[in-house]
Amino acid sequence: MAKIDGATLMARSLKQQGVEYMFGIVGFPVGPIAVAAQRAGIKYLGMRNEQSASYAAQAVGYLTGRPGACLVVSGPGVVHGLAGLANAQQNCWPMILIGGASPTYQNGMGAFQEERQVLIATPFCKFAHAVEHVHRIPFYVEMAVRNSIYGRPGACYLDMPDDIILGEVEEEKVHQAATVADPPRSQAMPVDVDKALNVLESAERPLVIVGKGMGWSRAEDEVRAFIERTQLPFLASPMGKGVMDDNHPLSVGAARSHALQEADVIFLMGSRLNWIMHFGLPPRFNKKVRIVQLDISPEAISQNVAAEVALVGDGKAIVGQLNKALESRQWFYPKDTPWHAAIAEKSAANAKQIQPMIDDNSAPTNYYRAFKDISAWLPDNAVIIGEGANTMDIGRTQMPNKNARLRLDAGTYGTMGIGMGFTIAAAVAHPDRPIVAVFGDAAIGFSGMEIETACRYNLPVKIIVLNNGGIGGGIEEFPEDRSQLPPRVMAIGSGYEKIMDAFGGRGWYVDDPKDLRQALNEAMAYPGPALVNVKLHHAAGRKPQQFNWHTA
Ligand code: ADP
Ligand code: MG
Repeated sequence: MAKIDGATLMARSLKQQGVEYMFGIVGFPVGPIAVAAQRAGIKYLGMRNEQSASYAAQAVGYLTGRPGACLVVSGPGVVHGLAGLANAQQNCWPMILIGGASPTYQNGMGAFQEERQVLIATPFCKFAHAVEHVHRIPFYVEMAVRNSIYGRPGACYLDMPDDIILGEVEEEKVHQAATVADPPRSQAMPVDVDKALNVLESAERPLVIVGKGMGWSRAEDEVRAFIERTQLPFLASPMGKGVMDDNHPLSVGAARSHALQEADVIFLMGSRLNWIMHFGLPPRFNKKVRIVQLDISPEAISQNVAAEVALVGDGKAIVGQLNKALESRQWFYPKDTPWHAAIAEKSAANAKQIQPMIDDNSAPTNYYRAFKDISAWLPDNAVIIGEGANTMDIGRTQMPNKNARLRLDAGTYGTMGIGMGFTIAAAVAHPDRPIVAVFGDAAIGFSGMEIETACRYNLPVKIIVLNNGGIGGGIEEFPEDRSQLPPRVMAIGSGYEKIMDAFGGRGWYVDDPKDLRQALNEAMAYPGPALVNVKLHHAAGRKPQQFNWHTA
């Protein structure tokens, strides 16, 4: 009778469940799982740090609709992987962390890298469990995959002790599991669909907020039909960008603060009123704002601001219902309202405010001048990754997204360190698209060694570092005595492009904006991984903001 080992069964179960990518670092005891995964036809990418591997797994999950797997060694490997679990859970993105564990027969004895892994993973997971019998592996993999993508997506953890990985079972004793279908799409009650439209019709200053829940549910066609049919102005959340084209005439992007502050009815679509949306509270929002909320998670309804209408279910299905219901209505939001005029006026004023920075050709350059060339060069179909404080915030406003799920950034958890993992995930999930990652110099430091990973797999990613020499900027010259350097400061003129050179890619250093476009063109034409390191003025910053980002 044929026998099968735990590693092979794990790999085959993942493959059966549509898990196509595994990111990890091998070592005791998980090496056999990586090898078995490759044999089973899963694309395995060896990373340099488990954090990056865990970020890559969730980005692949969001981009493809099936969770990515992250494979880590016991103890410290799992601890590093927790970073990704927490980030995935906060962003509502699916991933499965598979942690190797010391053998069960050494539990409690002080085994090598022994850790209470299920316990520490649990707060960040929808489902976390140890696999205790080889023959039950398919059961646990099915549980993890289903939990990661059904309902509100999130992270799952499976603990794989050494003796389960190496253990064998007769194939006919294996408990087979059914393949998890794509998430079922649930609709809202028709009465609530009508109520929602009634509330929107009654609005004087309506606003639709499109979040990444709509990206995840692949609702872009329905959302576009809805916006164009109703003519409602919309605002995209940072990663909801692209569900609607940022350059759509109904986008209020450039007048974000004004639109949020003045709207009297907000239709929240797959987005949360958390810190990114200033909790939906004054002074950033109208005190009397009325909320129509669409979310897959009933518990999310009325968080921070009570919703007048709740549309609980799948984004694509429910916006489809709204579109259907609109067929029997005449109403749309008129074009010639004071609200449209005020948004247009505010957008123009904001654009005017940054124009001098865009036009400033002095060297070293500023963010807005750098983004002028970057966005003119950026292909429409690129996946855009942004990481860093100013780099990410300004980049979000200056690099438009035309299509859904093409922007990845620090997200709901505000995580620094996600960038290279996301970049590598995007490159493997979208081999047909250009991958453009714009990092601050502090940001690239968190995961910069993954440049080796990009080079090793010859992923033709285009990395740009906007280098102002520190966290939020550096200093012009180092003092003789370096013992009292300001905490934010990093080495002046760091040659990040040389790291790319070191691993076999190609790098460019740009210290005058007049050379930027040429370097970007060369980087794009280069067939492998490329990095353009752009020196910014050490005090380059954002345009003055009406509110601090964390205004309560
Ligand atoms: P953003 O940061 O873009 O505003 P959030 O992560 O805050 O987005 O919110 C996304 C919301 O989308 C979550 O509350 C989540 O429950 C919801 N969501 C996830 N999947 C779906 C889906 N298929 N349909 C509708 N909403 C969804
Ligand atoms: Mg910096």
